Amino acid sequence: MSDNDGKKTLGLGGSRPSNVKQSFSHGRTKNVVVETKRKRVVVPKPGAAKPTGGAGPIIGGDPSKRPAGISDVELERRMKALAMAKAREAEEQAKREAEEKERAAEREARRAEIEAKEAEDREREERAKAKAEEEERKRAAEAKAKAKASAPAAAPDAASVPGETAVSRPTSAPRKTDRDDQSRDKGGKAKPGRGDSDGRRSGKLTLNDAMAGREGGRQRSMAAMKRKQDRARAKAMGGSVEREKVFREVALPEAITVSELAIRMSERVADVVKALMTNGIMATQNQTIDADTAELIIEEFGHTVVRVSDADVEDVITKIEDDPKDLKPRPPIITIMGHVDHGKTSLLDAIRNAKVVAGEAGGITQHIGAYQVTTDSGAVLSFLDTPGHAAFTSMRSRGAQVTDIVVLVVAADDAVMPQTIEAINHAKAAKVPMIVAINKIDKPSANPDKVRTDLLQHEVIVEKMSGDVQDVEVSAMTGQGLDALLEAIALQAEILELKANPDRLAEGAVIEAQLDVGRGPVATVLIQNGTLRQGDIFVVGEQYGKVRALINDKGERVTEAGPAVPVEVLGLNGTPEAGDVLNVVETDAQAREIAEYREKAAKEKRAAAGAATTLEQLMANAKQNENVSELPVVVKADVQGSAEAIVQAMEKIGNEEVRVRVLHSGVGAITETDIGLAEASGAPVFGFNVRANASARNTANQKGVEIRYYSVIYDLVDDVKKAASGLLSAEIREKFIGYASIKEVFKVSNVGKVAGCIVTEGVARRSAGVRLLRDNVVIHEGTLKTLKRFKDEVAEVQSGQECGMAFENYDDIRPGDVIEIFEREEVERNL
Ligand code: GDP
Repeated sequence: MSDNDGKKTLGLGGSRPSNVKQSFSHGRTKNVVVETKRKRVVVPKPGAAKPTGGAGPIIGGDPSKRPAGISDVELERRMKALAMAKAREAEEQAKREAEEKERAAEREARRAEIEAKEAEDREREERAKAKAEEEERKRAAEAKAKAKASAPAAAPDAASVPGETAVSRPTSAPRKTDRDDQSRDKGGKAKPGRGDSDGRRSGKLTLNDAMAGREGGRQRSMAAMKRKQDRARAKAMGGSVEREKVFREVALPEAITVSELAIRMSERVADVVKALMTNGIMATQNQTIDADTAELIIEEFGHTVVRVSDADVEDVITKIEDDPKDLKPRPPIITIMGHVDHGKTSLLDAIRNAKVVAGEAGGITQHIGAYQVTTDSGAVLSFLDTPGHAAFTSMRSRGAQVTDIVVLVVAADDAVMPQTIEAINHAKAAKVPMIVAINKIDKPSANPDKVRTDLLQHEVIVEKMSGDVQDVEVSAMTGQGLDALLEAIALQAEILELKANPDRLAEGAVIEAQLDVGRGPVATVLIQNGTLRQGDIFVVGEQYGKVRALINDKGERVTEAGPAVPVEVLGLNGTPEAGDVLNVVETDAQAREIAEYREKAAKEKRAAAGAATTLEQLMANAKQNENVSELPVVVKADVQGSAEAIVQAMEKIGNEEVRVRVLHSGVGAITETDIGLAEASGAPVFGFNVRANASARNTANQKGVEIRYYSVIYDLVDDVKKAASGLLSAEIREKFIGYASIKEVFKVSNVGKVAGCIVTEGVARRSAGVRLLRDNVVIHEGTLKTLKRFKDEVAEVQSGQECGMAFENYDDIRPGDVIEIFEREEVERNL
């Protein structure tokens, strides 16, 4: 006890202290105060069996359970005792209940009393207030002063808590100083030489101990102290985690990675992996597990599961209906549809009043976009410049109903043709009103009335036939009737009463998207509601971004675009697809989350669709029509317009034996996803002015998927046509012999720009053809002017070696570009 003399020990309340003497080597001893906490007396809950009766039911209830060696008399006695105990218990229970009731009544009464008192107080206060108001200002001021005076009076009440701490402080403070003095004493004389070892053994480094240690002579190094402190801290922290484990509500999506699950539970990843392993699931931290598995783990850790749907992330896109008073009139959006060669492009061009380069042979329009015109009467009309029906339907299937009015072009010298009927059906399906433009009225062979009667058969009754569909005779060539057509559209728009709210976050539809060499991904968006501004954060399909710049249909930069205005949007992270809906959201994180969710969902959908194509559809087709086989293809192009044009052309190909089916078409480099899809259906992949990225190329080689590159639509279509009609003979085809990547670009006088390259694959050959690729998009095709290795002109450079290359008549080369080296050879066709 000598150690503890005058020293208070930290103790458990209500404990019985006792001393234990510990002896150490070298004759040292130490007294330790051991406290034994008295066991808490558990008051049996009302209704719970008494300890004495505890064994009763077992004995009495079932003779088979009766302990051996108990006589009947004994049993009877026990039963009696049990009955008595029960009776006593019931009595006690009743008594307890009565007491409880009494207490409750008392509590109730007290509460009522307090409430009454409070109400009285309040009333008094109110009365006082009213009085104060009644009296003059002066007296009010007096009352205030009184109130002020009463405030400190209330203080002692409130101070009761700090008072407690103030009381407890003196008890703890002297204790500290006591020990301080003692340790100093000890360090000084009582126990010479023990100051240090004491401190080391105490397991706790306090400031006092440290001080004592220093006084004691030997000084502990800073590092040692720090280590000790760290250890103590780690120990304390480790302990507290276990003691104060927080049980959380864990939001669980349909699938989750192991690491994300660990984060959401605030558990260590290693523990989660271990838990999975004990459940027989081997998963690394980056692996995704399904919700059911995750739920099991979450429950194992003691947390609660809150299942959330992934789709919830889309909820941030406000779907609030606009207040009718916020709505303002907006221009109509018009799509021109009709049979090939009936003059859609010509009409659009005529309306735009600008000469566009004469369309490609066969009427395939390579460019799509949109533009606005103003009629003579001042109405603004937005025209969609889409190549036929594929865009219209693909947009509709993606949920973007962009068109308000369809202008159905029918050539007066022709008649209603298959695609005219298709257009009518599309317009009807979309419930979009139609206006019939009877084109080529300038032609001598024009017979507009034949067109009108033909249309009757397809339930299109024009005004001239006493119907309600407006019809206008026009000539895209001479411009005749164009104004009448525009006025007819304006009139139709008026009837539709098109409105939108420009004062909300923008929503729009992508009508065209491409990977621009200089500007990155660019999307032409038609705003449908709200106003899109520079700097807005948006999600569009599976992509997201922040509006870096807006460019209108005249090529001018604008800062905002309102309803029905088409604009080019710059600042996307990737190329969206036509028909994708653009939504402005509040934060970058939201945009990214939505885009990622959509990408995942689309991937799953594509996988499912791929399977359906190969198994179900192909089988069904084979069964249905034994003679017709399908030629599935995957198409990737540099711009949406080309992709659409190719798809349209492909769909037209086919005879009695073969039909072409486009499994997927898109914009940008050929990726592994494309290869996967092609492989699943045994389809070739067509790249139009785009290339496969490295991983896609490897996968294609491994899986035997054919990738064919084209730069002329008609070559592509022609090849497919020939393949379809079984005319696959030997052909001249390109073979890639090498790739080189440009490291640096030098300017050399008399030569021009020279690319310092490294051959990354195959060989570079002077005589071969070359293409310049930027972001896997072909930007130039030609021949080499020079191929140099260390200043010498060489015929060939092998993979891994550096060389200098210059193009014949082409100078726009940049570091990072890739040069593709190819040769033409005769090969057997095997589409
Ligand atoms: P699309 O395939 O429907 O886009 O049709 P185009 O606009 O490419 O036109 C097909 C052909 O019809 C082109 O050769 C045009 O010159 C011609 N064409 C278009 N409109 C007229 C017109 O009003 N009068 C005459 N005479 N020819 C026209």
